[in-house]
Amino acid sequence: MKPIKLKINTKTQKYSIIIGSNLMFNISKIIRDNSINFKKCLVVIDKNISNKTISQIKKSLNRKKIYIHFFKASEINKNINNVNKILDILLNKNFSREDCLISVGGGITGDISGFAASLFKRGLKFINIPTTLLSQVDSSIGGKTGVNTKYGKNLIGSFYQPNLVISDIQFLKTLPNREVICGYGEILKHSLIANKNFFNFLNRNSKKIINLKSPFIEKAISESCKIKKNIVEKDEKEKNLRKILNFGHTFAHAYEASLGYSKKLNHGEAVILGMKTALSFSLKNNLLKKDEYFLINNHVTNSKLPSNIKKFFKTQDLKKIMSFMLKDKKNYSDKISLVLLKKIGSPIINKEYDKKNLSLFLKKELSN
Ligand code: NAD
Ligand code: ZN
Repeated sequence: MKPIKLKINTKTQKYSIIIGSNLMFNISKIIRDNSINFKKCLVVIDKNISNKTISQIKKSLNRKKIYIHFFKASEINKNINNVNKILDILLNKNFSREDCLISVGGGITGDISGFAASLFKRGLKFINIPTTLLSQVDSSIGGKTGVNTKYGKNLIGSFYQPNLVISDIQFLKTLPNREVICGYGEILKHSLIANKNFFNFLNRNSKKIINLKSPFIEKAISESCKIKKNIVEKDEKEKNLRKILNFGHTFAHAYEASLGYSKKLNHGEAVILGMKTALSFSLKNNLLKKDEYFLINNHVTNSKLPSNIKKFFKTQDLKKIMSFMLKDKKNYSDKISLVLLKKIGSPIINKEYDKKNLSLFLKKELSN
């Protein structure tokens, strides 16, 4: 299949996303074709990327001076110390703003590399090569970068758009099924907040997508990217519309934080559980109709996505979950702001709910 090219046009940067297969042999040409010039680059690579791929990348970039930095991706390692390590290499090797930082990895590697790129001399060239389904459909687009702290997830960060994104489907072949499901969670989110036809496509083809069957996986990735592109182009800095991308995330971030960002619950899995909670809350508040609520819930069950919150939490965890929800950066008062769903494709933002009301609801969800 010919690579698909999407152009992102934000106020601060215009850049392309190239989606295709076997692109790593050709990175140099893709970079040149997109008019990005540099002599020196630091490639931050996720430790789980195969040696074969690393050799392909090195070979393709052989005319440039390359430094490689390996990074062990985990939510715990998504911290400011690891950003410092990258900055230190850039300083030590005398990088200028005309040089380039390249991230090869999932959302964690991309988020910390992008943050380092935004800080170094107030910004050097940045190319993102996402290697997980989640990063190809979501985190590599739109310029949010950042790190976690003990107070919560992604609480320190910046908006910094890349100069180019290269999404090679080949990477997904080595991705564990659990990580594919995580990416599918964000694809499902995009359909729910923006496009009922896309949801129907997912509902018919989820198994083929999760098994990475062509052309279903390509369509799922490109449609998902288009939805995110349309949103971030209209509202790059999350003044309003972009908040819809946080559907399920206020709950998800609190779930992840409550489990100490451990491997017990990955981000994408937390998002699926968070969306389930948000849908249930939407139903309870008479926003979402029963038929659509059941349609989505059946989709989650039939596609074998994580769906049982009680596998992860007990009622005793309620206090902890609530405290993280209150620390979420989208909240400006004691009330908790949520993104809910009216219909598939029609989200509602800026709905504020009382802490008590929400706590009672969550208690029931955890004990039902
Ligand atoms: P990740 O980067 O941790 O990758 C998941 C796992 O897959 C890791 O163990 C990694 O080493 C491994 N891996 C990566 N590529 C692989 C490959 N090709 N083959 C085999 N293994 C591979 O996680 P993720 O799910 O990609 O990203 C989650 C992160 O993204 C979260 O921290 C989340 O907050 C962030 N995120 C950011 C945005 C944004 O807009 N910036 C949006 C959504 C999510
Ligand atoms: Zn997410």
